[in-house]
Amino acid sequence: MKLDSSRRKFLKAGVVLPIAGLVSTHSVKAFSDTTDNTTYRVLGKTGLKVSGVGSGVGIEPDPKVIARAIELGVNYFDTARGYGNGKSEQITGDALKGKRNKVILATKTDGKTKADIFKDMDESLKALKTDYVDIYHLHSRDTPDAITDESVEACEILKKQGKTCFIGVSTHDVHAVADTIIEIGKFDVVQTTYSYAIGGAPLRQKAIAKLYAADVGIVAMKVIIAVAGFVPRDINLPEEGPLAAIKWVLLNPAISTTVPYVKNIKELEMNVRAMKEAYTPQDEKMLYIRNEEIRPDYCRMCYECKGKCPNSVPVTDELRFLAYYDFGGNLKQAKENFRSLSEQIKGVRCSDCSSCAIECPNGVDVRNRLIRAQTLLT
Ligand code: SF4
Ligand code: SF4
Repeated sequence: MKLDSSRRKFLKAGVVLPIAGLVSTHSVKAFSDTTDNTTYRVLGKTGLKVSGVGSGVGIEPDPKVIARAIELGVNYFDTARGYGNGKSEQITGDALKGKRNKVILATKTDGKTKADIFKDMDESLKALKTDYVDIYHLHSRDTPDAITDESVEACEILKKQGKTCFIGVSTHDVHAVADTIIEIGKFDVVQTTYSYAIGGAPLRQKAIAKLYAADVGIVAMKVIIAVAGFVPRDINLPEEGPLAAIKWVLLNPAISTTVPYVKNIKELEMNVRAMKEAYTPQDEKMLYIRNEEIRPDYCRMCYECKGKCPNSVPVTDELRFLAYYDFGGNLKQAKENFRSLSEQIKGVRCSDCSSCAIECPNGVDVRNRLIRAQTLLT
């Protein structure tokens, strides 16, 4: 299997740590750069040292997995106020009792107004049983308009109040918002989708490189979903696919940490190996094959089809929601997300179109996948 030149460069470069910037004002334990199981990277201008493999605790975290992750040296935990309507934060908070100073804790708000953002923060702190989080993200902001002056101001106030050490933005379309984030100049961290399947998109790579150059810490999400999940066809999943997928993401020195969701301790222990094991030609081959297998089914979130549906279907969003089920096995999350669409959009049926206006450059069977989403998730 031939590696392209950028990938070869990553392989040669290995992990290069950016220079540490500011340090947290809170007493986060001083981590060494490497332990038996774990390698730490600096999260941009925050100066925090984060384990390359973090934990996306998911909608219903398993406290045993959280405890084992901490034992293994994983120190980055990511949740959101909206996950399971607060259940995720609640369980995470219980699991972190007595261990708060060992972890870097990030959560997110869907709030749009100052009042909602403040309310979310207070509820998050209560659920997480802490008086501060390390990073507070504006959640799922996929257009510049979604990062309003009011929301930025709210985040800054929370930072001044000490309720969060740093502020960030989570986004699925990093290309759309990177310039805005850099111009605003207030955000310390960006969490974005990045994986073997979607990472190669040039605009996404460019946006990540820009943020990295601006010393914004970058957290990668959706790193394993395309290789760890299933598709509505009979495909044998490689057992170590998730491990290879995380190794691939960590080849990029701009990525400080990853937040894969794991169902059990076995998966966690496998993923953690990604921080110490080399990315091999076998890994590349496995990911390449899997990427081809899922080509018609998995949307790469390149956003090239944005605004192209004459019926205003947010194609990338609906396909992402479907992926939560088809690739992540989480029907509840898929439905919850689909429900957030407007009534008008939810009413559109792609089965009413004889052909689709969208030709996906990545080979996704857009119309059929959307029909599946609209049938399963409504
Ligand atoms: S459907 Fe295709 S063009 Fe549209 S975002 Fe997904 S991968 Fe890109
Ligand atoms: S089939 Fe294509 S053009 Fe028709 S509504 Fe769906 S996305 Fe839009």
